[in-house]
Amino acid sequence: SHKNKSKHHKPIHLSFDQIGGQDRAKNEIIEALDFIIRREEIAKLGIRPLKGLLLTGPPGTGKTLLARASAHYTNSVFVAASGSEFVEMYVGVGASRIRDLFKEARVKAQKEKKENAIIFIDEIDVIGGKREGGQQREYDQTLNQLLTEMDGIHSGEGIQILIIAATNRKEMLDSALLRPGRFDRQIEVDLPDKSGRMAILKIHAKNKPVHPDVSWDKIAEQTFGFSGAQLESVMNEGAIYTLRDEVECITSQHLAYAIDKVMLGERTDRKANE
Ligand code: ATP
Repeated sequence: SHKNKSKHHKPIHLSFDQIGGQDRAKNEIIEALDFIIRREEIAKLGIRPLKGLLLTGPPGTGKTLLARASAHYTNSVFVAASGSEFVEMYVGVGASRIRDLFKEARVKAQKEKKENAIIFIDEIDVIGGKREGGQQREYDQTLNQLLTEMDGIHSGEGIQILIIAATNRKEMLDSALLRPGRFDRQIEVDLPDKSGRMAILKIHAKNKPVHPDVSWDKIAEQTFGFSGAQLESVMNEGAIYTLRDEVECITSQHLAYAIDKVMLGERTDRKANE
């Protein structure tokens, strides 16, 4: 099933400036993407084509957004899969799903007359977990297929494919994935710092009426440790409190309640996982 597809497919165009904070990650990604854009020069110089970018960091920090913005920046078609799709697949099905993913990318690029395709694989650790000492490996064929497809990517002519993978468990990854010519560029996408949080809050406030007395500086201060996804929730919950109060705009009080709610939600989630 393609449960996660909708998440990865809207809105169609997403640019890097719609992603708050993460300046270092953005710069590193853009630097890498310039290899895709300047592919002819790269090929002439005999530089290995860039095949894989690995985004690492906690959930909800914008890894998926960064992958989508990368597609926009390089004028690539975008196809996506998640490691969780591969759980409990029959032997062989995972490998054929990988094959189809690469085929889908090539076909889509041809159809849209684009030279580049980005394949995003979220939760890569599910298929690319460490293979240790003779252990029975459910995902061997899937991982092997991915490595085979990656090794088959060449620069120069035809549709150039870049694989962007994301994980929040980098230490779990098999070293075969991290070898040169595979995911040899790794970019950390950390929790946002204060100015990052402020930028993210403002992005998610854009379509909402916010009282002019609200201090973004204070809200950013009070949301230490929040991910981008949690900050998006703060703005959304704040708007819901506003609706309940039947007033016209979001006040500091609404946002204070919303921060508590998101914090509390996180705590109960953790309990449930234990
Ligand atoms: P996961 O590891 O759980 O897949 P992720 O790192 O891929 O998480 P995203 O799916 O990119 O996170 O982010 C989830 C949502 O959180 C986004 O759709 C967006 O609303 C919000 N968000 C996260 N980071 C940012 C950011 N830097 N700027 C703006 N919004 C953000």
